[in-house]
Amino acid sequence: MKSFEDLKINKPQLKALNDLGIETPTPIQEKSIPAILSGHDMVGLAQTGTGKTLAYLLPVLKLLPFSDQIQPRVLILVPTRELVAQVVEVARDLTTYQNVRIEGVYGGVNINTQKEMVSQGLDILVATPGRVYDLAVSGVLRLASIQKLVLDEVDEMLFVGFRPQIMNILDILPRKRQNIMFSATLTEEVDDLIQSFFKSPKKIEIVPVGTPLEKIRQKGFPVPNYNTKVNFLKQVLKEESYEKVLVFTKNKKIADRLFENLNEFFPDELDVIHSNKSQNYRFQSVDRFQEGSIRILIATDIVSRGMDILGVSHVINFDAPKYPEQYIHRIGRTGRARKSGEAIFLFTPADEESFLEIEILMQSEIPIATLPAAVEISKVLMPEEKDRSSEKEIQGKKNPPIEPGAAFHEKSDKNKKVNLGGSYKREIKKKYKKPKTRPPKSRGKK
Ligand code: AMP
Repeated sequence: MKSFEDLKINKPQLKALNDLGIETPTPIQEKSIPAILSGHDMVGLAQTGTGKTLAYLLPVLKLLPFSDQIQPRVLILVPTRELVAQVVEVARDLTTYQNVRIEGVYGGVNINTQKEMVSQGLDILVATPGRVYDLAVSGVLRLASIQKLVLDEVDEMLFVGFRPQIMNILDILPRKRQNIMFSATLTEEVDDLIQSFFKSPKKIEIVPVGTPLEKIRQKGFPVPNYNTKVNFLKQVLKEESYEKVLVFTKNKKIADRLFENLNEFFPDELDVIHSNKSQNYRFQSVDRFQEGSIRILIATDIVSRGMDILGVSHVINFDAPKYPEQYIHRIGRTGRARKSGEAIFLFTPADEESFLEIEILMQSEIPIATLPAAVEISKVLMPEEKDRSSEKEIQGKKNPPIEPGAAFHEKSDKNKKVNLGGSYKREIKKKYKKPKTRPPKSRGKK
């Protein structure tokens, strides 16, 4: 195993790492640091929790000589404001003993303050793509000096629709630059970006694409409806082992409703964040969750992405994710920094397809578990579930509804619970065949 000294990290950063209590490089750091120091383009396939932020910050900082020029030399693009704040914080921690100016910009806040900040001069700019482009268009931010571009969590940036902004930025960046990319998954869109803009990049892969970290214990609980899911949470959240619980819902409406449903049972123990909550509120909630003053955080996918929260004991997929990749991002919130964690997927009959797609993407099965006996199975449907069940009736036998019951809980019964059939599976496999269903061996060897 190599040390940070072996990787030729500079003294000031070694000292900062020491202050942070970081002693030995993680596998992604061991591989990425020399690759980035070599000056080549690099693509790293790694999830959050693998130490990817330091994997690019350390070599980027080493390659950055002192300068007092106004315009930035390194641009780091990330998908969310939370991640901007986090990367800025880590970069500042690493430069305690170095004179480097690092700033972060993101949308949703006053652009004039950011213009002012940028015009003071900086070395590294961490940004969400939309805001950096707006600043560039305004003429205040000039990108002509950028020598290194880091695209962090690029699959997520594309997923949330930043592709046009990324393309616009790539258009105005100097051609001669080093490109560094990190992505949890190699989707076709990510691959297109690599083919179009990267020059024979070094590919580095740590966890095979789509495979969750081994230290995350996964469980799938079949549930018939929303109210049963709420009953499940009311029950399990009483347990002491549920120390720090992140609950994902598919939208703000459900997030707020769930908050209302749980708040009377766990007052002062929970909070909810989504895109309608102010930026400040979101930061504060994440901080309070991080430090342990709240135990349960309900979140939607977009705002939770990239949050560096340590020690999450349980990630609960209250709703199925919209895309299978999203599941991997969600469960990657637990098991971080060498801790083990549990990921729970509460899936309804309507989530069958989603469940299967996730298993195909991960190339492993999510073990099915039995609902605790104390969880009351509710028969009361929410308005949106009523709509869905009437749709099902119209569809007739094509999608037979699943009855919750004993047979529902057995692993061996999992594949019987809906007769998806070989052709159905083949359809999904076809949809996801490139490149996610390739055997791990052949991944990344293009
Ligand atoms: P990341 O994947 O960059 O989000 O990092 C996940 C967590 O791992 C962060 O809290 C880092 O501080 C921590 N971390 C990163 N590198 C190391 C390392 N070499 N040793 C121990 N912890 C680390």
